[in-house]
Amino acid sequence: MYIDTHLHLHDPYFDSDKLDLVVDDITKNKIVTWVQSCDLPTYEVILERCAKSEYLFPSFGVLPWYAHKYVDQLDEITKLAEEAIMLGEIGLDEKHARDEACIPHQLPLFEIYLLEAEKNNKIMNCHFRGKERESFEIVKSYKAKKIIFHSYTGDEALIKDINDCGYYYSIGPWHPEEKLKFLPNDLLLLEIDALPREPFIAPSVMFSEMVERVAKIKGTTPEEIEAMNHRNVLKLTRDNPNLSEMNKLLMDNK
Ligand SMILES: [Zn+2]
Repeated sequence: MYIDTHLHLHDPYFDSDKLDLVVDDITKNKIVTWVQSCDLPTYEVILERCAKSEYLFPSFGVLPWYAHKYVDQLDEITKLAEEAIMLGEIGLDEKHARDEACIPHQLPLFEIYLLEAEKNNKIMNCHFRGKERESFEIVKSYKAKKIIFHSYTGDEALIKDINDCGYYYSIGPWHPEEKLKFLPNDLLLLEIDALPREPFIAPSVMFSEMVERVAKIKGTTPEEIEAMNHRNVLKLTRDNPNLSEMNKLLMDNK
């Protein structure tokens, strides 16, 4: 079964007029999909959209780029993180900060999520760009274990340390071949992230092309890559009571 661990179904990464088509494609093809949010308004949007299919699961996050906008709402974010079944997209990113004002507020925001993940063993879909080593050290200083380095951009030396901690890597359809080779199969997850618009490609098509490409690079079969992703997702979800509905789908469609 296909499992997409990171997809955006909100503006500006998604055209709303494709919503019905995408929900249909995901449901018909039974693609368990972890739908990310980037701030409070997009979380509202995806909660509504996830209700349209039993295969869509919402993840609550505020991207580090918007950290300065939420300094007065950290209590609300703490509460929403507590209620959420998964956390993301969250992280640390000075490299692509659109407004430098966010920089001093990124860590306090991210720490809310780390504490919640630590307390309730939640999955964290993390966006770290630039300073990946420093971000890793911060994560490591917490007890949260279900860490995903979304679309991993760190160097080769850091991979060894991430592997030792048992954190995960997610990679998308265009992950550079030379980098993908270094990522271990037992910690690797697949994701679409953003669907292409011109021309638009449906999730099932994107996913099957990605599985084929990764299989070729890894020197194995698409079936084995699909099974690898499934196994790794289960390691993250199976002991989590918040994800019992998802686990049922995962177990029924092995
Ligand atoms: Zn994303």
